[in-house]
Amino acid sequence: MAATPEPMLLPAVLRGDMDGAAYPILPPRNADSAGGLLSVERDLSGVDGADLKATWDARLGSREFPYRSGVWRYRELIAPFPDDDIVSAPEGNTNLYCGEGINRCPGCRIGGCRLANWAGVERLALKHEGENPTASFKDRGMTAAISHARHAGATTVACASSGNTSASLAAYASKAGMRALTFIPEGKITAGKLGQTLAYGAQVVQVQGDFDAAMTLVQEVAATEPVFLANNINPFRLEGQKSIVFELLQQRHWVAPDWLVLPGGNLGNTSALGKALIEAYELGLITKLPRIATIQAAGASPFAQWFERGFDHYEPMQAETVASAIRIGNPVSRHRARRIIQRTGGVVLALPDAELLAAKRQIDHAGIGCEPASAASLAGIKALRERGIIQPGDDIIGILTGHVLKDAEATERIHITGADARPPIVIEPTLAAVQRVLADG
Ligand SMILES: *Cc1c(COP(=O)(O)O)cnc(C)c1O
Repeated sequence: MAATPEPMLLPAVLRGDMDGAAYPILPPRNADSAGGLLSVERDLSGVDGADLKATWDARLGSREFPYRSGVWRYRELIAPFPDDDIVSAPEGNTNLYCGEGINRCPGCRIGGCRLANWAGVERLALKHEGENPTASFKDRGMTAAISHARHAGATTVACASSGNTSASLAAYASKAGMRALTFIPEGKITAGKLGQTLAYGAQVVQVQGDFDAAMTLVQEVAATEPVFLANNINPFRLEGQKSIVFELLQQRHWVAPDWLVLPGGNLGNTSALGKALIEAYELGLITKLPRIATIQAAGASPFAQWFERGFDHYEPMQAETVASAIRIGNPVSRHRARRIIQRTGGVVLALPDAELLAAKRQIDHAGIGCEPASAASLAGIKALRERGIIQPGDDIIGILTGHVLKDAEATERIHITGADARPPIVIEPTLAAVQRVLADG
């Protein structure tokens, strides 16, 4: 096998959102001098897109650390950390499911794509980020953030979370030998995510309040205590999450879709995926810039409402939705996400919980499965098609953000106790009883 190409570790700076200043990546900081967020910036003018593609393609299928990771394969545009500081599971390498045309899944034996038919489109594929090590896309950002923490010599890491960041932080902190504290809204995350966090050995702090209160608190903690903040305020979280786009483009032989559709909560992922698309476009890795559609739950839709008002007069809200991963009323990354929506000609849509759950039922029955927040992608594709914003022949990628096992309560509600549920049946252990079940169809 050919040797894996040496990385070109491009130097990076952190650019302040409000003050416009450049800061070094060490020591870590959580805001610019005016309180704005920080974004990773690197000079791409000397980078040849064709070389980069060749480097990344040569690493496909590598068994070597860190390139076997579907994040660190794209290292040049993720983070300039040395090998010794990289904390990787490895993560990524997630499947792109089903679809017609360019996305056509040769393994599909049922003819046509049920999910595409249901949504009223012809060319659809779903990238399942629930197939990451802790079962959500958060691992892609967390490997980068915890590597940053290690690069900085941090020993205690913390985050506020609606559940999945908490589980991911706990796992990566454990691998790195760091102490982990996670701040969650009391009683508001699923039992699976809480159990997972505890299982990986983190200290869970239940905050009497909602996610937004936990977020405010952890920022205060990080500003005064020697604690490394691993929320998506950490600019390298977003750099890691960009690999979702690089990986799906590589899976599609660098053919850009027309649309990328994903759920939006704190809006880090909208910001990260948009940043990746813009970089890929500017480097010539793709020849068109896809449009981004961010889908929120109606009960947690401050960004969608802001979009409706032409991004005039932003108002946070008290969030309530069955989709706990996106139950966020005051998204931290709203400004960078706004710039992404504007730059990509994107849209933002809010949908009622019933539509999210209807889409989840379809995804589950297709043998793919996801948690409720993730189903916003497919629900959004259907709704945008119905509104004539997505055209029938458009080439569409939906992102599934978390695994079906993340939210057993929702699964029970839909598939066991729900209106069209097919709950398990109890029989005496006889062949005759089974024959009656078979006869019922
Ligand atoms: C975190 C999360 C989201 C929301 O992502 P943001 O970056 O906060 O917008 C959506 N779905 C799942 C499953 C998540 O864990």
